[in-house]
Amino acid sequence: MQDFLILSRIKIVVINMAAQIPEQLIDEIRQANDVVDVIGEYVSLKKRGRNYFGLCPFHGEKTASFSVTQEKQIFHCFGCGKGGNVFTFLMEKEGFTFQQAVAHLAQKSGHNLPEQFTDQSNNYRNKNDQVSLQAHELLVKFYHHIFSHAKEAKEARDYMKKRGLSEETIKLFQIGFSPEANEVTPQFLEKKEFNLTELASVGLLARSEQNQMYDRMRGRVIFPIRNHLAKTVGFGGRSINDLEPKYLNSPESALFQKGKMLFNFDLARSEIKSSGQAILFEGYMDVIAAYQAGIKNGVASLGTSVTEQQAALIKRYADTVIVSFDGDESGINASYKAAKILKKAGCVVRIATLPDGLDPDSFIKKYDGKRFNDEVIEASSTYMTFIMSYHKRAYNLKIEADQMAYIKEIATEIAHLKSALDRDHYIRELVKMFDLSFDAILEEVDQLREIQGRTRNNKVSTSHTRKHNLQSRTKQLLPAYHNAEIKLLAYMLNDRAIAERIKHTIGAAFNIEKHKIIVTYLYAFFEDGHEANISQFIERLDDEELRKDVIEIAMEPITGDVSEEAISDYIRIIKAEQNDKVVLRDLIEQQKKAEQKKDYLTAAQIGMEIMRIQKELKDKS
Ligand SMILES: [Zn+2]
Repeated sequence: MQDFLILSRIKIVVINMAAQIPEQLIDEIRQANDVVDVIGEYVSLKKRGRNYFGLCPFHGEKTASFSVTQEKQIFHCFGCGKGGNVFTFLMEKEGFTFQQAVAHLAQKSGHNLPEQFTDQSNNYRNKNDQVSLQAHELLVKFYHHIFSHAKEAKEARDYMKKRGLSEETIKLFQIGFSPEANEVTPQFLEKKEFNLTELASVGLLARSEQNQMYDRMRGRVIFPIRNHLAKTVGFGGRSINDLEPKYLNSPESALFQKGKMLFNFDLARSEIKSSGQAILFEGYMDVIAAYQAGIKNGVASLGTSVTEQQAALIKRYADTVIVSFDGDESGINASYKAAKILKKAGCVVRIATLPDGLDPDSFIKKYDGKRFNDEVIEASSTYMTFIMSYHKRAYNLKIEADQMAYIKEIATEIAHLKSALDRDHYIRELVKMFDLSFDAILEEVDQLREIQGRTRNNKVSTSHTRKHNLQSRTKQLLPAYHNAEIKLLAYMLNDRAIAERIKHTIGAAFNIEKHKIIVTYLYAFFEDGHEANISQFIERLDDEELRKDVIEIAMEPITGDVSEEAISDYIRIIKAEQNDKVVLRDLIEQQKKAEQKKDYLTAAQIGMEIMRIQKELKDKS
């Protein structure tokens, strides 16, 4: 009866998941999109042994416990337990439905889907988001058209030409111009049958005191801001006359969360990943000018200082970040702030400095991309060198008290450095600067490290490391039959012949309840004519917990050609547990009957036997 219930559940799942897109097409799309490539767009993966590892995109961590198995086409996080295949990864990461995830990957691998699945804005679940996205897309074209052709945009065109942007770059970044007159943009959108009140609610239009809709970007050069899926979700507007403020961004909305996004991230991502390096600029024009000059790993924050989320985003793709802000006072202060946050996120930080108060855009225009690369990017200073000169500005180093305060400040920074060689190097720098004894500073640094270490260790013990230890500890304590079931399941998932053999010997009679459910799904999967394929199999599981369990089992290390004996051993252990349990149940029943008959001697004898078996069971586990 129980098995029947489980089977009927499976039927429903299969219908839900694959009712509309043909299963064969789903298989093709899954096969065409390698899990390492797809996840590699979100996580910087490094090969270690047979698997790839990276920082988990689902929970905050500083050491990589997120693994991707190319061979099995699945991912699994040893930290938070998340796991799945390419589709479930996108469902988790992008909030897609199953069909949206399939449609997204179909587009990448050039598969044609039935029409109802191909509408891109369908990728966004929320109706408001879909409308907002369509309006943004239309406005990008509208602004770009006005920029390219309208008389009133001549000044804007001249300005961009003067800044050295080519036609090609202007087209690539879809630079636009928003008409001066209040009513033009709302009228355009109205003609396209948008509801203006709806657009005002997502921040695309503004409402004046006289209750008139207007375009808050009016009279500005427009920089479309795309999300990581290359969809425009906001605009940056720059005034080229005296309009205040000089820079204006679209207001925050569900789709446009400035603290989580980076300008140009979609175009820069692959270059950042392959070079292992990102350049963080202050302005959109810097990013675009650098891009045109062949420096394609540049991004910028969106009108605010860098956030921890942005730093974490960069860190997932690159180890090194070069901060290249304006050469003026406020640029240097902003560099300091950004460097601190990036460092905290675990990035190797370098700081580029520009001469004569230039900004990257004007440097590239004055010289060229090559000199920018050679003299600014390549010549950027290390984090510590920058910090040392930055703090100098706050102290009068001719005064002894200031000297001491400065040395303390720098010693604290040195103490944070992980490499002993680096610490040694910067201690020597301080020694040189102030004619101090090396040992005195070393002692100071060591003391500071001890204090930092204490607070750090306290933090570590409450993080997932402890949970992780706990997990592996409980695993060791699992009874033998439990471990045998996990191993056997791992082989069954990997080999159809083994699964067939188990089906005829044990069937679904595993001891652990969830294992019973898993094998029932698995037998049905093979009965449908599939070959062993974990990535494909987990699509049948609608329950996330169950999927996690299967992935975790699939990550068990197993040998390629397991012996008959090993499999028989697992079967024996699993069966013995059941036999013992059956015997035990019988004995308890007999004991009860003997007591009812007031046959206390027999009851006592049976009691002894029960205790003996229980002890045996305990020893076995
Ligand atoms: Zn995780």
